[in-house]
Amino acid sequence: MLDSLFRPKSVAVIGASTKELSIGNRVIRNLVDFGFKGPIFPINPKADEVRGIKAYKSILDAPDNIDVVHMVIPAKFVPMAVEDCGKKGVKNIIINSGGFSEIGPEGDEYEKAFLEKARQYNIRVLGPNCQGIINTDPDVRAYCNFTFTKPDTGHISIVALSGGVAEVIHQGFSAMGVGTRIYASNGNACDITIPEIIQYLGDDDGTRVIVTYVEGLRDPSTFMKVAREVASKKPILAMKAGRTMQGAKAAASHTGGLAKEDLATDLIFKKAGVLTFMDEGELIQAAAAFASQPIPKGNHVGIITNTGGPAVIATDILVGAGAEIPPLSQETETLLKDSLFPEASVNNPVDVLATGNAAHYRTCMDAMLSDDSFDALYINFVTPFFVDTDSIAKEIAAVNQQGRKPMVCNLMTDKKQWAETTKILMQAQVPTYALPGEAARAMTALVRYQDIRTRDIGEPMAFKDVDKNSVSEILTRGKNAELTFLPAEDVYAILRSYGIPSANWSMVKTAEQGVAAAENLGYPVVVKADAASIVHKSDMGGVAVNLKNAADVQKTIEEMQDRLKADDLRFLVQKYLPEGLEIILGAKAEPGLGHLIMFGMGGIYVEVLKDVVFNLTPVTSFEAQEMLDSIQLSPILKGVRGQKGIFRNGVTDIIQRLSQLVSDHPMIQELDLNPTLAFEDRVVVVDARISIQF
Ligand code: ADP
Ligand code: MG
Repeated sequence: MLDSLFRPKSVAVIGASTKELSIGNRVIRNLVDFGFKGPIFPINPKADEVRGIKAYKSILDAPDNIDVVHMVIPAKFVPMAVEDCGKKGVKNIIINSGGFSEIGPEGDEYEKAFLEKARQYNIRVLGPNCQGIINTDPDVRAYCNFTFTKPDTGHISIVALSGGVAEVIHQGFSAMGVGTRIYASNGNACDITIPEIIQYLGDDDGTRVIVTYVEGLRDPSTFMKVAREVASKKPILAMKAGRTMQGAKAAASHTGGLAKEDLATDLIFKKAGVLTFMDEGELIQAAAAFASQPIPKGNHVGIITNTGGPAVIATDILVGAGAEIPPLSQETETLLKDSLFPEASVNNPVDVLATGNAAHYRTCMDAMLSDDSFDALYINFVTPFFVDTDSIAKEIAAVNQQGRKPMVCNLMTDKKQWAETTKILMQAQVPTYALPGEAARAMTALVRYQDIRTRDIGEPMAFKDVDKNSVSEILTRGKNAELTFLPAEDVYAILRSYGIPSANWSMVKTAEQGVAAAENLGYPVVVKADAASIVHKSDMGGVAVNLKNAADVQKTIEEMQDRLKADDLRFLVQKYLPEGLEIILGAKAEPGLGHLIMFGMGGIYVEVLKDVVFNLTPVTSFEAQEMLDSIQLSPILKGVRGQKGIFRNGVTDIIQRLSQLVSDHPMIQELDLNPTLAFEDRVVVVDARISIQF
């Protein structure tokens, strides 16, 4: 439990300094200014006091039962100081100093050395190279941190490795008048990890929303497990950066952070039910809404405005993100027609007009909150000089305090002149924004979250009609032969063992055998050259389709033999299946996470449009269907303009079988079913490759 770190009863500072502009001084000042509830013990071999507080020469001289020690001393002294803390029975150490793994091998040595001591004495370490924590709980008031933002008490907790970003998020909340609960930035995170902190915040009753920033996940499977569990209790809002190659490089070279391929991170977020953001501003603004607003029950948003254009902007953004702007109920319409100015627009958005007063706003809000057509309220509020804007703000504040349905407010004003109006809204915790788009995006996040929360992916299917052992045998054989790519016979046998249908085929060596095989399969057939050296068969003229008779087969094989000249050259004779829709299915091992499963349009589409989507194993039936629905060309799967659709259940069945196959056999490195031909009534693999790793 991290209780003694986040709710410390006493704090010591090793490296406490009398110099005003030093971290060793600032930490003490922050603790004092923030009203820390426990004693503070500055440790300094030379000074008798720091900031007027009695100092001790060594941690060993300080009183006992210290929950948190800050270390603000050069890296090389840290291992010894940790040893002293161990002897003293200290519970947690926040190492603010840098100069550890983030600078390279030399620093890494110090990090390993102090970590070994910490483990020996059961001390938990936050950092090194970190800011620390803040807990605004009135019973704690712990500002164990050298930053300068003084948060109000609130319900949002922030956790990130990067202190810079955590602090910028923190400042964003502060600027919006939104309080924080717990703040934690753990830098190199050599001991206490982000998932561990998220777990703690999940159990912390004062935390209503968790906001996190990551540049890659070090332990994806633990993150997934924890995030999934916590996200089922409270919203987790996350931003992942390092999406471009350059961005990823920048991430890898600071805080020792590891930016892995970001696709997997996004998939983890999705599977775990984490709400993701691409932009820190949007994340901050959304979190502000989550901090004070209930989660909407649906996606129907009512808009109240006193000026036209901004409501149009909001409508576009909301609708674009999947919200609906339904009409008013008959009852609401009648009521508003009686109450508002005759020129007012009584639709959704409702325009009360710039001359609309507090009573008009109030009537609209009450009516729309009572109207089942709406799950949430979006308010545009421009502050004309000819109306009493304070009264309008008071009505909005009062309605917000009832907490009936979530609301956001776009306040278009000059905050200097309308300071009182602004203050009324902020103090009442109305999520208040300065642009229609910002407020709309915050509302969008609430709607998206309700969608995530109600999305039940179900349990993965466990197919019983599979032959796991025979696949293990094939893979072991491949491993013993040190193969990277499995021979075609093995690949198709593996597919058969997991009930994945493929076109009938025969492997032959000569043209005569080829003709016999073709007669057996029935014309038309396809002939494909097969040899270890041939990777993309059609690129080398190694695929001939629609061969209609013996002469065609004979000629094709002889011609390929002449041209391709490989010692191990053989031919796969396969049933020709015309007019199927070419799709691509695949899997790729993702270390620490299982496999990625891919689905998309095959043939030329995969090259040109890259119209493919991914998911992480295990893929459930629900998720497989989502995959089909989320490619760009998904309408084609259903059939458009008289064209027949494809057998969707056949595809989702293969996706799930594939998921089970690679989960059962982690040795499979990559698997490609490209193409798989999808018809109205069946789905058949016609080309498959499997590579293994051991
Ligand atoms: P490669 O990917 O190595 O070039 P494929 O076996 O995928 O070779 O064949 C290339 C293309 O030929 C496929 O994308 C598909 O369009 C077509 N094709 C291959 N096999 C068949 C088949 N059995 N029925 C119909 N078309 C096929
Ligand atoms: Mg192919």
